[in-house]
Amino acid sequence: MPQDKGLYMPVGIPRLDDEFLTHLDEYSLPEIAFHVAKNIIGDDIPGDDLKSIIYDAINFLAPVVKLEENVFVLELWHGPSLAFKDFGARFMSRVMSYFLEKGEKQLDVLVATSGDTGGAVALGFLGVPNTRVTILYPKGKVSDIQELQLTTNGQNIRAIEIDGTFDDCQALVKQAFTDAELNEKFRLTSANSINIARLIPQTFYYFNAYAQLLKQGIDKVVFSVPSGNFGNMGAGLLAWKMGLPVEHFIAATNANDTVPEYLKTGIYQPKSSVATLSNAMDVGDPSNWVRIADLFKDDLDVLKNMVTGFRYNDEETLEAIKFINDNYNYVACPHTAIAWQALRDWQQDNYKKDTAGVFLSTAHPCKFPDVFPQSIAGKIDVPEQVKELAKKDKHAVALGKDFEGFKEYLLKNE
Ligand SMILES: *Cc1c(COP(=O)(O)O)cnc(C)c1O
Repeated sequence: MPQDKGLYMPVGIPRLDDEFLTHLDEYSLPEIAFHVAKNIIGDDIPGDDLKSIIYDAINFLAPVVKLEENVFVLELWHGPSLAFKDFGARFMSRVMSYFLEKGEKQLDVLVATSGDTGGAVALGFLGVPNTRVTILYPKGKVSDIQELQLTTNGQNIRAIEIDGTFDDCQALVKQAFTDAELNEKFRLTSANSINIARLIPQTFYYFNAYAQLLKQGIDKVVFSVPSGNFGNMGAGLLAWKMGLPVEHFIAATNANDTVPEYLKTGIYQPKSSVATLSNAMDVGDPSNWVRIADLFKDDLDVLKNMVTGFRYNDEETLEAIKFINDNYNYVACPHTAIAWQALRDWQQDNYKKDTAGVFLSTAHPCKFPDVFPQSIAGKIDVPEQVKELAKKDKHAVALGKDFEGFKEYLLKNE
């Protein structure tokens, strides 16, 4: 983290060459990823090393599936933790271990999770030498599968169950980063999406989605992004700044609607987060918003031209899940359903025959079994890796939400 408590941004955002952009359909996902990453990262990681990091990290697909004319779903959950966060976490962990030379002080990754981040980060770092991951999650507020993903890893991964909310977990992590004694003792780093190394790999799938549309003769696209901390949306806008010809972005949120409100009123008013069915988006003061504001130089009018906000409550989320099931025979997780509803509402007023709407599907529905009515839950096929998890034992330390207790734990468990 920068000392001034801001967030890092690339000094310059490179524009990709037209030759690449107009022929995107000729490249595979890892080929696209390499070209994009090379342009942002330059020579800080030599080409061959960068290539092996990417081919190792992005070893699963991100298919665009057509549901009806001009309505597509971009499935981002084909990685090991079954959520889109695998893109960021797997790339970041490999970049970090690349820079960790032998004999250097162990890297201590602290991560607060509302559910999905922890699992992706844990699997990203599992067994990576010279690293240790400490996951803080709010007790009783993550789904059973998410909890298993956080607490059954062993090796260099440990989980702490905090008697509090996600905001409490995040506050503990943030305070640890500014605690002199802890920083003296440990080499601490964050794995939340404030880390720019998580954002960069998320640009890859926007380019790759466009490539898949190009193959079908479509060259105009609108993306609807289910948003919480706004890393995913930030990555999409970064891809657009790099030259990806996106017509429009839709910021879809649950009741935590700080950004849609801002886009409507021009007043940015952070709120405390409220719990919803789409728990990975329960963020009242999105960390990455400053990055998006920076991309638009804080010009609200230009921003509004490119981004429209929509918000939905839990009842509307459930209705969307049912509609998608009934009409497309497709099961969407609650976050995904919100993105679909926002796309639908946007298309009501802005439909263009030549423009594809793509909503991002951020997690596999099996991660949220309690959300679905029985008739829909029964249709979800549970991947093999989840069935395996159920056989493992949970290991988590229980702590309160006070910083002193957390600090004492860290110091006592060097
Ligand atoms: C993290 C997450 C989101 C929100 O993504 P942001 O980048 O924080 O906006 C949406 N859906 C799911 C399933 C997630 O895990």
